[in-house]
Amino acid sequence: MQKRADNNGNKVYFLFYVCVVGWFAKPSHTKTETHEDFSKNLKEFLDEMQTNQIREHLRKFTRLPHLAGTEQNLKYAEQIKKEWLEFGLDSVSLVPYDVLLSYPNKSQPNYISICDDLGNEVFNTSLAEPIPQGYEDVSNIVPPYSAFSAKGQPQGDLVYVNYGRTEDFFQLEREMGINVTGKIVIVRYGKIFRGNKVKNAMLAGAKGIIMFSDPADYWAADVEPYPDGWNLPGGGAQRGNVLNLNGAGDPLTPGYPAKEYTYRFSLDEGVGLPKIPVHPIGFHDAIHLLKKVRMNIHTNNQVTRIYNVIGKIRGALEPDRYVILGGHRDAWVFGGIDPMSGAAVLHETARSAGSLLKKGWRPRRTIIFASWDAEEFGLLGSTEWAEDNARLLQERAVAYINADSAIEGMYTLRVDCTPSLHTLAYDITKQVSLLAHTTHLKLIIHINLKLSSLFNIMISKLGSGSDFEAYFIRLGIAAGRARYTKNRKTERYSSYPVYHSVYETFEIVERFYDPSFRRLRAVAQVRGGLIFMLADSKLLPLDVNEYADSLGKYAQSIAEVAQKHPEQMELYKVSFDSLFSAVQNFSAAARDFYARLQTLHTEDPLQLRVVNDQLMYLERAFIDPLGLPGRPFYRHVIFAPSSHNKYAGESFPGIYDALFDIENSADPEKAWQEVKRQISIAAFMVHAAAMTLTPPA
Ligand code: GLU
Ligand code: ASP
Ligand code: CA
Ligand code: ZN
Ligand code: ZN
Repeated sequence: MQKRADNNGNKVYFLFYVCVVGWFAKPSHTKTETHEDFSKNLKEFLDEMQTNQIREHLRKFTRLPHLAGTEQNLKYAEQIKKEWLEFGLDSVSLVPYDVLLSYPNKSQPNYISICDDLGNEVFNTSLAEPIPQGYEDVSNIVPPYSAFSAKGQPQGDLVYVNYGRTEDFFQLEREMGINVTGKIVIVRYGKIFRGNKVKNAMLAGAKGIIMFSDPADYWAADVEPYPDGWNLPGGGAQRGNVLNLNGAGDPLTPGYPAKEYTYRFSLDEGVGLPKIPVHPIGFHDAIHLLKKVRMNIHTNNQVTRIYNVIGKIRGALEPDRYVILGGHRDAWVFGGIDPMSGAAVLHETARSAGSLLKKGWRPRRTIIFASWDAEEFGLLGSTEWAEDNARLLQERAVAYINADSAIEGMYTLRVDCTPSLHTLAYDITKQVSLLAHTTHLKLIIHINLKLSSLFNIMISKLGSGSDFEAYFIRLGIAAGRARYTKNRKTERYSSYPVYHSVYETFEIVERFYDPSFRRLRAVAQVRGGLIFMLADSKLLPLDVNEYADSLGKYAQSIAEVAQKHPEQMELYKVSFDSLFSAVQNFSAAARDFYARLQTLHTEDPLQLRVVNDQLMYLERAFIDPLGLPGRPFYRHVIFAPSSHNKYAGESFPGIYDALFDIENSADPEKAWQEVKRQISIAAFMVHAAAMTLTPPA
């Protein structure tokens, strides 16, 4: 096996196909019980997950549109509850919240028009996507819209701003001298979270923003548009929320669960709501829009009841330690890929766990299964539940594994996780691939053989844009996600072409993405394997040395960013020594901790509990209760969603943001003082975290 860092500092593990590894090889640093029962149970748990079952789950939960806040999404919640109880979970309940959602006005459609000099509409964008075959009679398909858009009918000149990224606006304003104040901007989808595009347009003074799907980003070479292939048809468009919540959850109840009695801010006080109209279109419409347009946006914000489904398996020995597997259920339309490919996998994991329970197994720790609502409207269901249960979670949660879309491509497995989960993620993936091999699937291996004889998975840091956010970045719970992905080297398109369109059907999965349902099973086994190991291992399979390693790399790379300004560093006496010394300190503490694990008496429940608590609370140690500057709900000092792209993760985000564009700062003295303050916060936090790993007394 070789480990190397790619150019983003991400870890790429290459595992030679020929490697022969014991089926249940431990994470190399731990001495999890090699107990026969444990191995047998894990194998049974993974073997029980079946492709035809996953297919059935996906089939039944993608027949009808189930947008958050609709009756159909409640029906699916009730069905999930019923089936989880049948599977054998100890308890399952629906947990409601009343959150701000946003829907188009049914009697006044949204569209964009080109007007002549007299103001007559000479061209209008389409009001809906052409319905895919077989779904003609389905009602309640919400047309493409940008959830939480401001209402309005702005009219004006159009300015094209590429992807609408920070750098695109810089180029427009600084290099091309174009001012978009009072203009409508049009940007293509892709590269970054759409909410960041809207924020950038607002800051630049635009009075409206149109987002379109460019074939350059949503059209794979040599692939037909749906239904003959998996490309986005010209009449398709990407729905999606355009909020800038920075982790707040429901815009009207930041910090507190959105219950009936909860105080609500007024709409103008709501967090993250855009102040300008926003609308998405497909490329057939986009080619018409060139000069002057009018946007007609009548979307309404509305407090609406949503439902999470929470299922539990009580832990046998440590019921007060929680391992969470959660993913969303709400979909823009059918949710064939997003999220039901993930929900079907979650369902199968719950079924398999239930079947093991019926045979007498019970995990050491409590497992919580969650089917979140209103993820598409800003991670609302998961964040409200995190707010509601924050006290319990910060004391008791061991890890959170996310279960959003299980596929975004057909090429290989992708894992994003906190550094302490690197080793476990790698080991589980290896085991699943070997399992696939031995059961004549050759899944991951087979797929990669086409390009090389290597099995490679990519492990990167977490960003955001899905439900793990509140657990990881607000509460400091170790978190990870895994899914099948595309080959980034050869496939340039963003996410996958039909993302958030009506063409995300059951059929697109069955015909193109995973006809055998083996990719989905592999994802189920990886996500399930992580949960199993975290819930049932005696010693928690969290790797502190990997955290130390990652901190070292992140410190190095943020110092390099600062080194681009050697004169200022000198002038303002900016030094990273304190951070490097803290990281060294952390590495030493991690090494010593690891050494002590080797002589731990795992039969002594108190000794075991002491070190397990140290492992569990390590992630919590990186939480700064004051939060990052201007982002009180992003409290993790090592990781935050990038301020320029919610989907991407930034390491040492406080320092990164203080350094960003510092050469153009109006007050360099003040800006560099802030850099120094952020370095000192990071150094302190790393020191403080190191202390939690030292012997308690
Ligand atoms: N996953 C949804 C999206 O990408 C919501 C993300 C979010 O609001 O953070 O549109
Ligand atoms: N597909 C997005 C992601 O997993 C999330 C979503 O749109 O629901 O990052
Ligand atoms: Ca709230
Ligand atoms: Zn989505
Ligand atoms: Zn999703």
